[in-house]
This record gives sequence, C-alpha cells and structure tokens, in this order.
Amino acid sequence: MSRAAPQEALSKQSEAPMPQRAATVVGGGIGGLAAAVALRRRGWRVEVLERAGRFTEIGAGISLWPNALRALDALGLADAVRTLGAVEVAGGLRDRRGRWLSRTDNAELVRRFGHPLVVLHRAELLRVLAQALPADSLRPGSGVSAVRDAGDGSHGPVVEHAGGESGADLVVGADGLRSTVRRALWPDAAGPRYAGYTGWRMVTEPLAEPPAEGAATWGRGARFGYTALPGGRMYCFATASLPAGGGTGASASEHAELLRRFGSWPDPVPALLAAVPADAVLRHDLYELPPLSSFVRGRVALLGDAAHAMTPNLGQGACQALEDAVTLAHCLDRTPDVAAALRSYDRLRRPRTRAVTRRSARLGAIGQLAWPPAVLLRDAAARLTPRRATLRSMASVLDWTPPGDPSR
Ligand code: FAD
Repeated sequence: MSRAAPQEALSKQSEAPMPQRAATVVGGGIGGLAAAVALRRRGWRVEVLERAGRFTEIGAGISLWPNALRALDALGLADAVRTLGAVEVAGGLRDRRGRWLSRTDNAELVRRFGHPLVVLHRAELLRVLAQALPADSLRPGSGVSAVRDAGDGSHGPVVEHAGGESGADLVVGADGLRSTVRRALWPDAAGPRYAGYTGWRMVTEPLAEPPAEGAATWGRGARFGYTALPGGRMYCFATASLPAGGGTGASASEHAELLRRFGSWPDPVPALLAAVPADAVLRHDLYELPPLSSFVRGRVALLGDAAHAMTPNLGQGACQALEDAVTLAHCLDRTPDVAAALRSYDRLRRPRTRAVTRRSARLGAIGQLAWPPAVLLRDAAARLTPRRATLRSMASVLDWTPPGDPSR
C-alpha cells in the first residue's frame, strides 16, 4: 500500500501456529498464481482451478514497475523475473512526427524507486509463478461454474468446477475481467465498461539492430508503443479509438489493419511492423470494471482483474494483481478469522486500486485525444513538463511497499 494509506489495523492475535488452512484459487493467470504462491509461503494448502488446458499466456509482453518488483520480492521471485526480462535503458513519449515530447531513463527510476522497469514475455512470468507451486496444486481444465458461500460462517465457501466440487477455508476469485466468481456473489455489480478504444499487442522476431530506447508515439485517436524484450525482440502495442466489437483475439487480418493505420508512422514503427509475424497480432477491446463497494463476501475475495480490471495505459493491471496477492496473504497471516482478514484486505486494496484505475483511465483519455487543437495543447504540455515532475507524479503508484515490510 502507499505510504499515505491508512495503516493496517489488525494485530497478530496469537503466536501459536495455526492449523493448516486450505484455499481454492479460481483462475490461474498472474493474479491467481501469485495469490497461490503468497498463501503457500504462509503455510496454506492451495489449489488453483484454471479453465484453460494449460497455465500460460500467449503472444505479448508485460511491463513490471518497481511496485510489482517489490511484490515479487515478497514472493521470492523478483530475481528470477529480472533474469528473464529486459531492463529498458531509456524511453519516452513522442509526437506523431517522431519528435520527443518527454524522456526518462531507467537509472532515474532506480534512483528514485529502487527498482527498474522490467519487461518480459507473459508466458515467462506465468512459468516462474507456476513453477513456484507444487504441480499437484495446479488444476488445468477446471472451469468454475458456480461459487456458494453461506455468508454466516456456518461452513466455508464451495466451488463447483469441471472436476467436481471444492470446499475450502477461503476462495480467491482471480478469474479475470469476466469473472464467474464476481457474477455469482456480486450479481448486481455492473459489467465491464468499454474504454472507447481497442488495443493490439505483438512481439517481433529478433532484430539485428533493435531500437536503443523504447517509446510511445501519440497521434490523433491512436498510439503506438514499443519496448525491448530479451534476445533482440521488441514488444509493441497500439491503440485506436473505435467502436467495441472488433477485438476478438488473434487474426492475420489484424496485421494488415495495423499496416494500414500505422505503416506510415515515424521510424522505427514501419520496421517493427515488418518484423512481426502476420499471425502474431493480438487484438482486444479495452475495458475497465466499475468500482465495487467491497472486494469480499464472507470468506471469498476478488483479486486482480476480477476485482478491478483497469485500462492498460499505466501498465499497472498485473502490477496491482501482484500487490493484491501479497497483501491478501499478509492479512490472512495475522488472524485465524478469515472473514476479518478479508475485510482488512478490502480496506487496504480497494482505495488504492480505485485510484490507479482512475488515473489509468485519465491517461488513456488524454492519449486518445483526436481534435487537433486539443492534440497540440496536449503535446505542448507534455513537452514542457520537466522530466523530474513526470517521475514525481508517478510516486504514489510506484512507491508501494508490501504491508509489514520493515523498510516502510
Ligand atoms: P487474467 O490474466 O484475466 O487471468 C484470469 C484467469 O482466470 C485466466 O487464466 C482465465 O483462463 C481464468 N478463468 C476465467 N474464468 C474462469 C473460470 N470460470 N474458471 C476457472 N478459470 C477461469 N498489466 C501490467 O501490469 N503491465 C502491462 O504492461 C500490462 N499491459 C497490458 C496490455 C493490454 C493490452 C491489456 C489488455 C492489459 C495489460 N495489463 C498490463 C493488464 C494485465 O494484463 C492484467 O491486469 C492481468 O493479466 C490480470 O491478471 P489476472 O490474473 O487478474 O486476470
């Protein structure tokens, strides 16, 4: 949690070891696997129910900011992730003609926040998380169809899935934007809200001379960004303001669409697009979830995108899921009363994730401006903002340290 957030109120109730408790985690994405790792490190028995046949993700990179690296440190996995990722040397923002609007370098980030920005392939992050768990705790092909919680504490929550039913002391709903757990226990909650723009993601083949710096280029109602991955590959992403309904995953025609939209953008965009295999472009419409009044119901907690899916403009969705996981395990470690621990988790996580979600949406709205005078003003403001002010403005997001961390 941020230094400015209220202090955790629970005190450790007993020094006596607690009997081993069992958690069922619904969803084996970054959030679910991280929660399972965090709980297991605190002595919990865990099972992760994943709908897909494998624990992996396809085709894109992910940026992990200093707050995420601190969370990964708490899981004992930061070194492994750093080894597999690329540390971006420098990067910044460019206008549609390729001129720099603002720049920063990773040394500054490390100086200020103690960690660099690390970018790696999503599949690698999933692999590191999954390998930190016993193989028999991972249940692929176990789509969850329903969750019941008595709510009065008479018995623990029960999860119905493809392999039968699981009862546990705790259920973690980490099943993403269209969460079944959320729908089951928050039936009145509003569904995903379209941000107004679609997003493409892709990874190039290895390049002989990859760009020395990453950048995001802001146009009118469209953006194109790229950042280095290990082995000379580049992770690229693009957005365009379009009606919802076109983002259907991977399709070869999306490569042609990107060439049409971005093929004449400033270097190195055309060369990057030429280095992307035609069938390797992912397209997804971008959504956020309207806020909930609580992330918990009895002994069920939502985590990651299921709790607070946000637009990707700050590159924080997965970073926040990692924070959630570490915070959840911390709260549960401090009391045998699962419901009380979850209330504490909710108090710590809801305001923070709400603030980050809002900020990400605001940045997206600015990035997608299309009216020429507004674009001119936006670019001028970005050009005039001192480098230090840009990083300082990110402090409340990047400064997070795990609760209970003695360095706080
Ligand atoms: P998910 O990744 O959605 O995982 C949910 C899992 O649950 C999936 O494996 C799914 O198969 C499973 N599941 C779903 N339903 C069921 C069910 N009924 N039963 C069992 N299993 C189920 N974040 C960053 O931090 N940095 C970035 O650079 C970044 N870039 C992004 C770029 C784009 C274009 C987008 C769209 C997002 C980006 N994000 C980024 C956000 C990040 O991808 C998400 O916040 C993160 O993946 C959320 O993880 P999660 O585990 O909560 O959910």
